[in-house]
Amino acid sequence: MTAPSHCSDSLYGELADFIRRLYGRPEGGIPLHAPVFSGRERELLMDCIDSTYVSSVGAHVDRLEEMICELTGAGYCTAVVNGTAALHLALLIAGVRPGDEVITQPLSFVATANAIAYCNARPVFLDVEERTLGLSPEAVASFLQEQSETRAGECFNRKSGRRIAACVPMHTFGHPCRVDELLEVCRSYGIPLIEDAAESLGSRYRGRHTGTFGLAGIFSFNGNKIITGGGGGAIITSQADFARRAKFLSTTAKVDNLFFDHSEIGYNYRMPNINAALVCAQLEQLDFFLKEKRRIAASYGEYLQHSAVKFISEPRHARSNYWLNAVLLPDRAERDGFLRLTNERHICTRPAWKLLNTLPMYATCLTDGLQTATQLATRLVNLPSGVRR
Ligand SMILES: *Cc1c(COP(=O)(O)O)cnc(C)c1O
Repeated sequence: MTAPSHCSDSLYGELADFIRRLYGRPEGGIPLHAPVFSGRERELLMDCIDSTYVSSVGAHVDRLEEMICELTGAGYCTAVVNGTAALHLALLIAGVRPGDEVITQPLSFVATANAIAYCNARPVFLDVEERTLGLSPEAVASFLQEQSETRAGECFNRKSGRRIAACVPMHTFGHPCRVDELLEVCRSYGIPLIEDAAESLGSRYRGRHTGTFGLAGIFSFNGNKIITGGGGGAIITSQADFARRAKFLSTTAKVDNLFFDHSEIGYNYRMPNINAALVCAQLEQLDFFLKEKRRIAASYGEYLQHSAVKFISEPRHARSNYWLNAVLLPDRAERDGFLRLTNERHICTRPAWKLLNTLPMYATCLTDGLQTATQLATRLVNLPSGVRR
């Protein structure tokens, strides 16, 4: 069965009914994305308590790092307290310094820009593309071509005089952006690329796991992500010295265990064992979650095939984790109507983030006009996407 092709309350009502059937819940609330603990979560958590290893040293932290390396093909993984901290450290280690500019996309969770601000650097928001919802390689290429110059092997913004120290694309809702092309552009200007893969654990692009293309990538294990440790994050890289530095800085830059010797200002960012235990138990179920989420996405896609509500499906060359399913409504008024109708019926749907350049603390940041981002931001809606228990 497919949806009617004109927009109206009845179309949205029928979509709401479809979501209820999809989740097998004729009544009651349907959350956007609730975690599912159907594996060894209890067992591994009890192991932490029984062993007394609940804090930032423990076997589960080591195992989590090994499992992430195996899943992604990355050489090294460092587990940290959350995805924001992972991004902060990755940017510092990539060499982002106070006063620098960092290119990113405005269509993202606020943490992407906050991590840049924690380095006392400034986000530069460039446009996204409709097909991937991610940073546009063409937008980055034309910004750099028009505005940058190379001095002593480093890239500078000719107008602001600031160094362009990094580029942070994000794989929106789990859909891989064209990261290979972004990497090529960045490489030709000597700009390191850090992937915000917080939402894309399990997503691949041209067969390679997201987060493994740039100098480093980060994941989040927050409660609403595809798998969760309550909180948590990880940094992956193929460079041994980058990984060594991530572990060092995340453990207070400790030189010596016995004598409280620290050689610089470090961070207390190491992931506690108790969170790692939960993440490990969740990772063991990732294949099952990915399969279920593809099934849910396929159902949405099929139902909305000829609808005025456009389902966002995985981009070319990509295999998405379909973390959060998204649809594009015809305009803001239609979006607001759809949000109101579904939420009144206790089906949790949610608009995309406000563009980061419109938030007060980032309102004076550089942008490139953001044509596509602007017309997407008021029309995108996320649909319930959790795995059924
Ligand atoms: C969730 C998320 C983060 C931050 O992760 P936390 O673990 O919540 O700190 C960063 N970037 C994006 C795009 C996210 O969705």
